[in-house]
Amino acid sequence: FYLDMNEYGQRIRCCVRKRPLNKKEIARNEKDIIDALPKKDLHVNEPKIKLDLTKYTEKHKFVFDEVFDETANNYQVYLHTAYPLVDSIFHKGKATCFAYGQTGAGKTHTMIGNNDGLYALAARDIFHRLNTYFKGQLDVHISFFEIYGGKLFDLLHGRKLLACRSDEKQNVVVVGLGERQVNSAQELMNCIEEGNKIRSTGSTGVNADSSRSHAILQISLKNVKSKKLHGKFSFIDLAGSERGSDTTDNDKQTRKEGADINKSLLALKECIRALDQASKHTPFRQSTLTQVLKDSFIGNSRTVMIANIAPNQTAAEHTLNTLRYADRVKEL
Ligand code: ADP
Ligand code: MG
Repeated sequence: FYLDMNEYGQRIRCCVRKRPLNKKEIARNEKDIIDALPKKDLHVNEPKIKLDLTKYTEKHKFVFDEVFDETANNYQVYLHTAYPLVDSIFHKGKATCFAYGQTGAGKTHTMIGNNDGLYALAARDIFHRLNTYFKGQLDVHISFFEIYGGKLFDLLHGRKLLACRSDEKQNVVVVGLGERQVNSAQELMNCIEEGNKIRSTGSTGVNADSSRSHAILQISLKNVKSKKLHGKFSFIDLAGSERGSDTTDNDKQTRKEGADINKSLLALKECIRALDQASKHTPFRQSTLTQVLKDSFIGNSRTVMIANIAPNQTAAEHTLNTLRYADRVKEL
């Protein structure tokens, strides 16, 4: 079945996805402290201990645009998050979908999964629409890159380091970012697979920790004749949100990377909020991530955030941080 694409008129949608307890957590006898209630409500039952050592539970209540419990599959998540935005890029819009959350909470599972994630599902629908209504008029170009320590690396070209500069109109131009024309969803997924291998292993043999990088897939529709950009869908698998607090680590490199992640996640929150307020000032200059996504924060653009959370009690603090962040991103 298909939803009416116009069901959601909002510029910003903020959804939460809870993953199931994994085998290790079950073996450790960890409790699931998240109640994902039908549709939109979510409660965190945080275990706490009083000074006199009696145990109690503090209940934190949240409401989001959509809450997916551990039984939801990628297709269900897709239908209520990215899918309603597919239409808009055919109408010259910009669509952006973020996966936010602690490392291990399910961001990459949501975006890629077993090749049944949001990338593949969106690619399939984009090509379906293109072939049905726009054959010969529009074609599809993709780029896939990561931001690591404030620097950009092209994942479709051996993790080549890219320079980023502003042009005379203060638009950020990523110098030398390779785009690839793709003619089917399968071809697009082959590129992702290739890029993703480089992402996790690094071309230099030095292991770039993917939990410390933002991975960005941009699917651009271009006019076949004029070569002009028609619309664009960006998918961002963000760095682990807990990495933003690596700012007091003993290792200098780790500290710097933590500070970069912290800065970019804060700037991202501000930029998304500015979408909602028709505000004149959007603070994209504050981080490489938001500079690169600048054109998606202005004009005809729509954003969906998927906050991924782990269910186990040990993750309570990170989970609450994720939910508070997501809560701030909601449309007012
Ligand atoms: P992240 O990218 O946020 O660090 P991953 O997507 O890599 O986290 O997820 C960590 C592990 O949990 C992976 O093994 C993944 O397959 C599994 N996982 C995540 N979300 C789900 C889910 N909704 N259902 C089943 N397994 C999941
Ligand atoms: Mg990941």
